[in-house]
Amino acid sequence: MADRTHTLNASNSPSSYGWCRWHGGHAEDVQLIDVIEQGSRGGGGLFACPPCLEQHGLVPFADRPL
Ligand SMILES: [Zn+2]
Repeated sequence: MADRTHTLNASNSPSSYGWCRWHGGHAEDVQLIDVIEQGSRGGGGLFACPPCLEQHGLVPFADRPL
């Protein structure tokens, strides 16, 4: 079975369900932590769930100072 690394795109998904890169699983209320820009692989974003945010002291991308 292939390992799917893309976030789900369900038509009736709740709030912000997605893939948490830190614990390696799907979770609700994930937040965008970092953006990867890689042309060849299409790039994408790194998302983390609230528990991982606390555990690793992550700062959501939107909350960062420029
Ligand atoms: Zn997590």
